[in-house]
Amino acid sequence: MYVIYMNSEISCVVCHTKIVLNPEEYLEDANYVACDNGHYLHIDPCLKMWLIQSEFCPVCNTKYSEVILDRYSKKSQIEEVLPPDIPHEEAEIEECVVVIDKLNRAKKLLLEQKYAASLNIIFDVLDHDDPSNEEAKFLLGKTYFLSGRYDLSVATLMRLIKNNYKYPLAFYYLGKDFESLGLDDKALWAYQRSYQNLTMILNESSRDSLSKSKLSKILEEVANIIEKLTSEQSC
Ligand SMILES: [Zn+2]
Ligand SMILES: [Zn+2]
Repeated sequence: MYVIYMNSEISCVVCHTKIVLNPEEYLEDANYVACDNGHYLHIDPCLKMWLIQSEFCPVCNTKYSEVILDRYSKKSQIEEVLPPDIPHEEAEIEECVVVIDKLNRAKKLLLEQKYAASLNIIFDVLDHDDPSNEEAKFLLGKTYFLSGRYDLSVATLMRLIKNNYKYPLAFYYLGKDFESLGLDDKALWAYQRSYQNLTMILNESSRDSLSKSKLSKILEEVANIIEKLTSEQSC
């Protein structure tokens, strides 16, 4: 067994950026896990990216635990996109893996703040693999936000919302865009919708506890922002 030190800093074995450990969060709230020998990595995207090619820790070659493999293995990642109860063609599954792999790489580049490289991969997915891929559209909007191109982010996320009003964090980033543009009324509008959406999603029984606890943290943040924006307006 390994010991987790309160707030100690460790690097992800895949992307080498820092992971701040908090023992109370382990496996429930956090976006990281470790192999049985304590080699930490981000779940999204580093672990998911690695599991596409191997089920063993990249550092010590120990097989990941059943809990980890159950949730994040290549098979589970495919099942998230393609419903497991109907049979799929080999080619369809292969195409799905290609897209998952590309989007995981785009997310890794986002984590490393390499926005241009991330955009290239996202456009590649939308132009060549799957023009209607919602995760790719969301990542496009998020990348535009993170790189300070708020207008483009607004346009992208609005298109996504038009097709799927319930996309989990679309309204959240839309709120951040409007806030950054100094459009507080519109920001409030987006955050209120984000609040409704997140509340609805958190009530769905099909979500796993990890994504639920992450989303409820964001819900808390959204509630605080709404309170702040509302009190500023009434001044
Ligand atoms: Zn990482
Ligand atoms: Zn290891």
